[in-house]
Amino acid sequence: AQRRRQPEVNIGTAGHVDHGKTTLVQALTGVWTARHSEELKRGMTIKLGYAEGEVWYCEGAEPPEAYQPFPEKCPEGTVPKLLRRVSYVDAPGHEILMATMLSGAALMDGALLVIAANERCPQPQTYEHLMALDIVGTHDIVIVQNKVDVVTPERARESYREIKEFVRGTFAESAPIMPVSALHKINIDAVLMAMEYIIPTPKRDPSKPPLMFVARSFDVNKPGTPVEELEGGVVGGSLIQGVLRVGDEVEIVPGVRVEDKGRVRYEPLVTEVTSLRFGSLEVEEAKPGGLVAVGTKLDPSIAKADNLVGNIVGKPGHLPPVRDTLRLEHHLLERAVGAREFVKVTPIRPKEILMLTVGTAITLGIVTKAGSGEVEVKLRKPVAAWEGARVAISRQILGRWRLVGWGLVKD
Ligand code: GDP
Ligand code: 5GP
Repeated sequence: AQRRRQPEVNIGTAGHVDHGKTTLVQALTGVWTARHSEELKRGMTIKLGYAEGEVWYCEGAEPPEAYQPFPEKCPEGTVPKLLRRVSYVDAPGHEILMATMLSGAALMDGALLVIAANERCPQPQTYEHLMALDIVGTHDIVIVQNKVDVVTPERARESYREIKEFVRGTFAESAPIMPVSALHKINIDAVLMAMEYIIPTPKRDPSKPPLMFVARSFDVNKPGTPVEELEGGVVGGSLIQGVLRVGDEVEIVPGVRVEDKGRVRYEPLVTEVTSLRFGSLEVEEAKPGGLVAVGTKLDPSIAKADNLVGNIVGKPGHLPPVRDTLRLEHHLLERAVGAREFVKVTPIRPKEILMLTVGTAITLGIVTKAGSGEVEVKLRKPVAAWEGARVAISRQILGRWRLVGWGLVKD
């Protein structure tokens, strides 16, 4: 048996609601991630769906059949070999969850863009998610043309042409388009094969100081636990570089909100890594790939209920500066998602409220200066960002936050 190890690459799912992202992740992993639409209806907080899977190569079989998500699926007489462990980040396709999608996209090394063949392409979030992947720099993508089991061959071909036309002139122009039925698990082998070629595990440099984007945070103690038995706060996220080890001292920025004589400020946190976990797998060191839960000595109440989402964890002295104001060299999309139609994006105006996504951090801000290529935004909540960091810019259009452009942080 293979020794269990952490996933080495994060592959996101993107695409319009109900096009089959969750079903596809289930076909790839056997795991049914949270249903965002159900969570929404029940008023629950929305989490990124997350599941771990594997890619196996059946030696002796012909590709694409040689690529399988489980060793038992290898044809008889062939020998299964594990190629890699993958973590799937299932971004919500619901229109009001664009912010969650954007902050999740920061963790994706590559993505599967799911487009249902039985609807015209592009649907609003198909367009918005493709733009989002472009903006955060997730350019290794495989397009999954799903639900081919419910369309005629003519409609399948027409859908293919719509997809081709949609991606023409974008970074996804030459991305492979794999016809699939996620529900009936047809052509899943071909998706895995495309993933192996199109979304290789990025080269990592283990000598870089560790940096992690926080996507979740928890108080893992059961109510009523005696104080002396309390576990410290747990922060969950994905390492974007370096290696984190049990016993490491880490700093977390921007940190926690403190009110001091009516003035609000954020204080960085310094703590020690006490444990590292990928799901139920306990490890001594964590590398990029997968969502790691980092146990710390922080007061658990600081970490409860996703309180630390958007923070960056790193080695003291190696963290990006915390900023209350962002100066951005910005670019606007030509069109944004409107109510039913796409609408032209108008220039950013002074006093306008924008939603900015930097890494996994989401913050609102008010525009204090707006020039043709540059804007200055005073943030309601500070973010930690290096010069040159990419920022996704959203504005309210007809009452909903819509992606309208991107910027680069200037010093
Ligand atoms: P998501 O919102 O993109 O995560 O979509 P889901 O995975 O929840 O799928 C939405 C609906 O489409 C569910 O009822 C699925 O069973 C159905 N579905 C997903 N993939 C397929 C497919 O390949 N064929 C068919 N016929 N239905 C599918
Ligand atoms: P839950 O509150 O659902 O039990 O756990 C939330 C998350 O924290 C899960 O990802 C779980 O793996 C992680 N977790 C729970 N206890 C610990 C712990 O003691 N150490 C670490 N590193 N992670 C933990």
